[in-house]
Amino acid sequence: MSRPRPIVTIDGPAGAGKSTVSRALADRLGFVYLDTGAIYRTVALAADAEGLGSAIDRSDAPQGASVAEIARLESIAGGLRIEFEDGGRRVRLDGRDVSSEIRRPEVGQRASKVSAIPGVRRALLDLQRRIASRGGVVAEGRDVGTVVFPDAEVKFFLTADPVVRAHRRVGDLLARGIPAVLDEVLAEIEARDARDSGRAVAPLACPADAVTIDSSRLDADGVVARMEEVLTSRKNA
Ligand code: C5P
Repeated sequence: MSRPRPIVTIDGPAGAGKSTVSRALADRLGFVYLDTGAIYRTVALAADAEGLGSAIDRSDAPQGASVAEIARLESIAGGLRIEFEDGGRRVRLDGRDVSSEIRRPEVGQRASKVSAIPGVRRALLDLQRRIASRGGVVAEGRDVGTVVFPDAEVKFFLTADPVVRAHRRVGDLLARGIPAVLDEVLAEIEARDARDSGRAVAPLACPADAVTIDSSRLDADGVVARMEEVLTSRKNA
């Protein structure tokens, strides 16, 4: 079924510049910006508030989280009361603005772990598809082009050298007033890459029909310009 307005997906590893680029592209197109990473981060935060932070931390360890804990995590994801505001820039959980809190590095680590639980991913599929049901969306994440919106009209895979990504992430965190050390951020990025690419369900992967853009030597404006070229050429095809 074709949509009156397309869905554009942008997948890629942590720190490749997806958020900046996705927001800028959504603004230029007048589309809704769907930050799927923010959804996983919000699940991690909601779970922590329910006392399940340590269950998430254990979920990828040999002794693991218990079956009951996993079931509770799945049910938190299924009942998540999340709202996006300000063109997808602000996030509310149960009415509370958690936009800054979800950006903390430890929330990112827990988001990465909780997102490896198959039932959690399943529980969030509907939510993501509902938000995009009328098209006119730029969705960013790890599996938006492969699993969530496999029939998206235009797909991008945005990547960059891990050291470049670590430098960017440090700049980002410092700008938000969050202390950051390059070596630690690089180690965190590499750990997250390994977990996101290695998990059994919906691993980070380049969709077969995606246009890959390496942002190591391109700034955000350069990436957005390249994406707009692709969109224009598709429209005229
Ligand atoms: O993109 P961001 O860094 O905010 O995502 C946080 C974590 O959420 C990622 O490390 C990844 O594990 C997970 N995620 C995911 N699938 C998505 C988006 C994010 O598994 N579509």
